[in-house]
Parts: sequence; C-alpha cells; structure tokens
Amino acid sequence: MQPDEPPLSPRDEGPPDAPGVGEDVCGACHGTGTVEGQRCSVCNGTGKVLQGIGGG
Ligand SMILES: [Zn+2]
Repeated sequence: MQPDEPPLSPRDEGPPDAPGVGEDVCGACHGTGTVEGQRCSVCNGTGKVLQGIGGG
C-alpha cells in the first residue's frame, strides 16, 4: 500500500546524472579547453575528459 503521491514531480523518469560515470572536468585545462592559448591535448579542446570506471 502506497500513499497518494503529490503532483510535485514534473519529471521522475531516469536519473539526471549517474555518479561515477560520464565526463569530468579536464584537469589540464580546468574545463577551458585551452592551455596557454593552445588547444588542450588532454581533452582535445573539449574541456572534459571521460572518467574511467572500475579503474583501469
Ligand atoms: Zn583539457
């Protein structure tokens, strides 16, 4: 038995962001995508890097 849910949830399908998976701010350019005027070679100018899961 579950009580009536209040209509306060406009969206309740799927998590917005799964923790521990996805992208992370590039540590080399701090998310700017550029280092000293040059395109960051670590994130390729995207400012984000993919986080490895499970440790590799
Ligand atoms: Zn970068």
